[in-house]
Amino acid sequence: MIDLLLLGTGGHTPLPDRWLSSLLVRCRGELTLFDCGEGTQIPWVRFGWGFRRLGAICLSHNHADHVAGLPGLLHAVANAGRTEPVDLYGPEGTTAVVAGLRVIAPKLPYEVRVREVRGGERFGLPGGLTASVEPGDHWLPVLVYRVEIGRARRFDPERATALGVPLALWQSLQRDEPAAWSGGSATPDDVLGPPRRGLAFGFVTDTRPLPAFPAFLTGVDLLVCEGTYGDPADATKAVARKHMTFAEAATIARDADAGALWLTHFSPALSDPEAYRDQAIAIFPETTIGVSGLTTTLAFADDE
Ligand SMILES: [Zn+2]
Ligand SMILES: [Zn+2]
Repeated sequence: MIDLLLLGTGGHTPLPDRWLSSLLVRCRGELTLFDCGEGTQIPWVRFGWGFRRLGAICLSHNHADHVAGLPGLLHAVANAGRTEPVDLYGPEGTTAVVAGLRVIAPKLPYEVRVREVRGGERFGLPGGLTASVEPGDHWLPVLVYRVEIGRARRFDPERATALGVPLALWQSLQRDEPAAWSGGSATPDDVLGPPRRGLAFGFVTDTRPLPAFPAFLTGVDLLVCEGTYGDPADATKAVARKHMTFAEAATIARDADAGALWLTHFSPALSDPEAYRDQAIAIFPETTIGVSGLTTTLAFADDE
């Protein structure tokens, strides 16, 4: 299962009651952070998830409202006692940006391993998650993320017993490896059920909606997506500034057949995002206007 916590929901600048847009993800006790604007560590402390298990940071892009919180956060993680490396992923240009930010956070008790990734790449994240990225359309190179975890096929112990598989070999079959013993052999297909649906979420921010997004994000259980503007009158502003309206975000969620949508990255001028909720609901009913502290758990279905 995957736990998600929206730390902040603001774009551009933090406000007294709205931290910058950032998402914290926990899987098997290990943490991954998506974006780290100024002050990200403050709501993090409030919600108590702890810093020490942070194993990876994924950046959408290198605008200040998504990266300027890094030096302070890296110190908070150090103070929490981490010594294991932290992997940091971002688009082209990330290495130079992180090197610049590390000038004011040069000495850490752990290694920060920066890796620039490009559209089409896949890589592992803490807790067994797998991320894939595609490029977005913004003022700087930007990545949109799809993150997922697979689910093992169901093991049939009765079938294994009937086939005479020694108990010591059950685990290899459960790991999808064939088993052989004196007097017999079995393949995973002999004792495992059909493939089962895993869990997935998407993280999309600071981009225009692109035609490739729905297919890339298809079937995600949750889409966390920017909705910088709520008022449809701001649609031209969304185009000019390379962001999205609530309606555009909801259209991606609908076309991707997502399970739910969280809107985030609100313009500082959008003082009451709830007032425009209907703009999204009309297109995608399972929409929630993000607030700092919004949390959910994506869990495997019981009946499969
Ligand atoms: Zn932004
Ligand atoms: Zn931006």
